Amino acid sequence: MAHLKRIRKLDDRMSMVLILTREHPDPPAFPEHIRLPPPYVTPVPKSAALMSTSLKLKTSLWPTIYAPRKKFEPEPWTKGKIRWACDAMRQVVKLPIAAYVPVPYDEEIKTATRMSDPISAHDTRKSASHPLRHSIINLVRAVGELRASSTSSAAPSSLDHDPDALSEPHTHVITPQPSSESQPVRNGAHYLLASLTLFTTHEPCIMCSMALLHSRVKEVFYLIPMAKTGGCGSLTCVPRLEGVNHRYAGSVWKHAGAGHMSEWVKESGLIVDEACDA
Ligand SMILES: [Zn+2]
Repeated sequence: MAHLKRIRKLDDRMSMVLILTREHPDPPAFPEHIRLPPPYVTPVPKSAALMSTSLKLKTSLWPTIYAPRKKFEPEPWTKGKIRWACDAMRQVVKLPIAAYVPVPYDEEIKTATRMSDPISAHDTRKSASHPLRHSIINLVRAVGELRASSTSSAAPSSLDHDPDALSEPHTHVITPQPSSESQPVRNGAHYLLASLTLFTTHEPCIMCSMALLHSRVKEVFYLIPMAKTGGCGSLTCVPRLEGVNHRYAGSVWKHAGAGHMSEWVKESGLIVDEACDA
């Protein structure tokens, strides 16, 4: 009894979950007269389930509680997650105005959103001679195209139809998961940028902030606030407008030492005209 965690009957089969304790570090040996297969050791979930899909999977192994994150509740940032975010920022600063959506840090979100590769885009207004080719518009559009194409092995679609964009970071394909009964698709879980984090060099303009709202993005990190054009907090804050049907978190990326930071921004060639809408 010291080991017993749960007994469950499923159809005509009975399963018993036992726990190893410090006092009982080994699986127990059943007495001879109890005719049961010997117990075996299996790893069990360490953390609460964030989504109903994972709740089902985790609970089949171990009694697990369901603790979905509340919207905008500050999430715990582990060292691993900080490293993940820094890597994403390092990707995004490679071009003057660029946006980048990394593969989600959380395995569960990664599965639900079907994001197995990062996706990036940059501003192509000049090269494409098109006034609406902002980096974020390019990125949202590319994600839409990828989501719409059901073939997983489709060639990476061009983000901006810009033949000159040789320096463009590699564009990746979102691979739809092979359908499996054990992983029911959560409705809406992979709609555009739902549940995803976007990193961008400059605060998105109002148009882009609205496009992000429509994309259902979860959160946006930007390096350079745009006082005259920014739609995530500077000129206005689109996700906080009344009457919008989605909200997302927008945060300025802070570097240790602001002075050092502005030097770094200059050296990185990220300075754009302050009237520019990013
Ligand atoms: Zn924009």
